[in-house]
Amino acid sequence: MKVLIVGGVAGGASAAARMRRVNEDAEIILFEKGEHISFANCGLPYYIGEVIKEKDKLLVQTPEKMKERFRIDVRINSEVTKIDTVNKRVEVLNHAENKVYTENYDKLILSPGAEPIRPGLPGIDSKRIFTLRNIPDTFRIKDYVDRMNPKRAVVVGAGFIGLEVAENLHLRGVKVTVVELADHVIGPLDYDMAALVHQHLKTKHVEFYLKDAVEAFEDEDAWVNVKLSSGRNLKADMVIMGIGVKPESKIAKEAGIAIGKTGGILVNEYMQTSNEDIYAVGDAVEIRDFVSGKEALIPLAGPANKQGRIAANNIAGLNEKFGGTQGTSIVKVFDITVAVTGNNERILKRNGIEYEKSYTHSASHAGYYPGAIPMSIKLLFGKKDGRILGAQIVGYEGVDKRMDVISTAMRANMTVYDLETLELSYAPPYSSAKDPVNIAGFTAS
Ligand code: FAD
Repeated sequence: MKVLIVGGVAGGASAAARMRRVNEDAEIILFEKGEHISFANCGLPYYIGEVIKEKDKLLVQTPEKMKERFRIDVRINSEVTKIDTVNKRVEVLNHAENKVYTENYDKLILSPGAEPIRPGLPGIDSKRIFTLRNIPDTFRIKDYVDRMNPKRAVVVGAGFIGLEVAENLHLRGVKVTVVELADHVIGPLDYDMAALVHQHLKTKHVEFYLKDAVEAFEDEDAWVNVKLSSGRNLKADMVIMGIGVKPESKIAKEAGIAIGKTGGILVNEYMQTSNEDIYAVGDAVEIRDFVSGKEALIPLAGPANKQGRIAANNIAGLNEKFGGTQGTSIVKVFDITVAVTGNNERILKRNGIEYEKSYTHSASHAGYYPGAIPMSIKLLFGKKDGRILGAQIVGYEGVDKRMDVISTAMRANMTVYDLETLELSYAPPYSSAKDPVNIAGFTAS
């Protein structure tokens, strides 16, 4: 069997490694249009802030190691430009040699990811405006900070990536202003929980403008003017655009593969597209929201990796289903940690799902043991059955483990009544005899 994989990072590299594990004889070719495979996308902002100091640490796997360990033919600088579904072959542009060739397949896995949105605003082509997706983008931004020593940056978009970049530029001594169209930072949060983040950003002297949008950029000799719809004009030495991503579904669409209404490649539970020999995974696909069962785009590394593995398993005949995405995610915002899973109030209302909510503010561990610090938990749950529909946590210590307990409970279709009964590890430095998750359950039920 000959399996071709398009995209060599989260979903693609996982699919390739798993494919080898489930089929020792398959011929596997991995095409990556960039120079690197299997790099640590999620670590990129921290390289800019010099929290991660060595370049090599960003590379989880190299083409050579992937070849040696898994017998996978890894071809970097190789862009798949066309899929011929009739003759089952792809057209590949080798950027290094500027050559085009074709390669046939028995099965094809697409994991081309999603690209940062760069709106067609006046002045967007300024050399001082950056997006962050891959290693070359990261080096470009870091090199600019190293060489130009910028004093002021504007980050457009207060999502996970925008805030991570804001924090890392701040660490480099840059004064950061964040501009966000919505009325709060971090879209998956509700306003009430985001207010805690707003407060924290203020203590760090990060300026932010909410309910405001960039209308144009104007390059001056010494800076770029960022013109906002409110009439404000911000002067910046550099601008980072972090307003979201859109699925790279172009080659699939051109090949006649069905695209969902969100713009992502349509797949079934087996990660199979409308063409039975072609699978698609990761940020490029439209997934089912675990809570509502509705179509959604939720670009996260965990689901991409799992879907890559599932696609390979299914090509090997193992019949594995992907159970939808909860959107469980976490971000460090300076000294605090923010984590979410499931739907927020806005999405629940949009989907007409009836819910109740509870708020608890518990100590991260026993109050009498030094260092206990409060964390705020918002739970959203079914009005009639107590099913967990979503959770948002903002705090300092132990946010990650509470979120992981709740998201696991949610995946297991547990209710808020079950949260009361969970037996969770306890000693004073770590928790309380009634863990914050138990308390959230008591309050909700
Ligand atoms: P990618 O990992 O983006 O890989 C797609 C690859 O396909 C790219 O390298 C691209 O060059 C290649 N490609 C595209 N088209 C072609 C073609 N035609 N031919 C050949 N190659 C092609 N997620 C989290 O869960 N937690 C985090 O903390 C987190 N932090 C992030 C921070 C940053 C700065 C970024 C950019 C993303 C972050 N993400 C995070 C998101 C996560 O990285 C993605 O969800 C995940 O990488 C998606 O995997 P993928 O395989 O779909 O796409």
